This record gives sequence, C-alpha cells and structure tokens, in this order.
Amino acid sequence: MQLIIFGSPGVGKGTQAKILSEKLQIPHISTGDILRQSVKDQTEAGKKAEKIMNRGELVPDDVMIDIIKDRLNKPDSKKGFILDGFPRTVIQAEALDNLLNELKLNNISIVNLTADENEIIKRLNRRRACKNCGKIFTLEQISGLKKCPSCKEENSFYLRDDDKEDVIRNRLAVFKSSTMPVIQYYQNKGKVITIDGIGSINEINDSILKSLRN
Ligand code: AMP
Repeated sequence: MQLIIFGSPGVGKGTQAKILSEKLQIPHISTGDILRQSVKDQTEAGKKAEKIMNRGELVPDDVMIDIIKDRLNKPDSKKGFILDGFPRTVIQAEALDNLLNELKLNNISIVNLTADENEIIKRLNRRRACKNCGKIFTLEQISGLKKCPSCKEENSFYLRDDDKEDVIRNRLAVFKSSTMPVIQYYQNKGKVITIDGIGSINEINDSILKSLRN
C-alpha cells in the first residue's frame, strides 16, 4: 500500500504514520525526520535546512524532491510506504506524481487529518521531543520521568524551536498558503479520505484503517 498522510503541523500525522507503519509493515517516510537527522549529522543540506526549519518555513522544493526520489528508490519502499510531511507544495505533488508514474505506482491513498487551529496550537505547545532519538511525547506522557521511555537517554526532553508559539503560528500560516492547495490538487482528482484528527490515538487509527479498507 502507498499512503500519504496529510494534515497541518501538530494534527498527529507522525503518531498515526508510525502506528500504521507497524500494523501494515511498510516504512514510515517522514521528511521532517529525514531533515532533522541531516541537521544532527551537520551535512551541507542539514546546515542549510536548520535555519529554515527553525523559522517554520519550507525547505526548497528541489531539495525535498531529491530527498524523496532517493528514499522511494530504496528497496524497502517497493513493498509500500507511508509519506508523512510530503508533498507540502503543489510543485512537490506534481513531482511525486511523475515519480510514482516512473515507479509504476498508480494507486496511492491520501488521508487528510483535520483539526481546529486552536487545538493544534495547544497540542504543539505541550509537545516535547527527545534530543537523542527524536521521539515526540506529550507533557503528560513524560511527567515525572528523567529518562526518555524510548532510548533511555537522561534529561533529554526539549521544546523544539519550531514548536515555540511564534514559530507554530508561522508554520500554520505556511500550511494555509502553500500546503492547503495540495489537498485541493488531490481533491480535484477525487482521491482524498478526510478523517477527524480529534479523538484518541486508537480511535483515529481505527477510522483510518477502516476507511482504507472501504
Ligand atoms: P515536520 O516534522 O513534518 O513538521 O517538518 C519539520 C520542518 O521540516 C517543516 O516545518 C519544514 O521546515 C521542513 N519540511 C519537512 N518536510 C518538508 C517538505 N515536504 N517541504 C518543505 N519543507 C519540509
């Protein structure tokens, strides 16, 4: 199965994509994670992306399209994949169409997770990442913990620069202006499954799986 999980920053795309990846046994491809890894590794691309990401803006399309081409050509993508965070512009969506044609994949599903903007701001502000493994937690999940539940690193929780409130507002504005048109692009092709992103993680996951089976 090839799946794009689409939605505004903080709507829960990453959380859902990870669970679906385990259940469906296909790779979770998050362009945000790939970029954060190159920032951590201080590659040339990472150094350039870091400043852009910290402002909540978009990394240039050509850089992102190269990243995705590279990733989808890896052998594990042959059995399917879940894209999280790509495409984020209509140019990226068109490039993805061409790439999928080349790879002879023409049955991609698009799930659009939706949530109210105030809810998103609240959620992102209450999110913490582990600086060692990158995993995201809510404040409730890590309350009283000294070690990351995932990688066991001590005192590793931090508020990502791009989860600070002024940057969140910028990310939401960029989402509206550059990324919302992508959903329209797919809606014009009649291909979008819309799912309410408010609710428990399991309920939302069940709704996604049910809608994919229909
Ligand atoms: P995410 O973790 O998906 O919210 O991504 C974090 C940041 O990485 C975004 O705010 C952008 O700066 C950058 N980014 C991730 N994916 C893309 C993309 N497809 N196009 C442009 N920038 C991206």
